[in-house]
Amino acid sequence: MSRDHKIRCREIAAYALKVGRIKKPDRCEACGNRGPLVKHHDRYDEPLKVTWLCTHCHAVHEGAKRRRLTSRC
Ligand SMILES: [Zn+2]
Repeated sequence: MSRDHKIRCREIAAYALKVGRIKKPDRCEACGNRGPLVKHHDRYDEPLKVTWLCTHCHAVHEGAKRRRLTSRC
């Protein structure tokens, strides 16, 4: 997945949020914590499929994804 594709995907998601196409919940979808939430994309070819995670869950999720990728090599 190219870097440009990821950036484009984030732009689409940011726009969708702005126009109300997607909604930001007030809690993390993984642990239910309130607090700063970040958009997480499992797939960058589905820009509107966003999971809202707190910064902690996002770091855990990204770490797990990276481990999965490296274990495939
Ligand atoms: Zn969380």
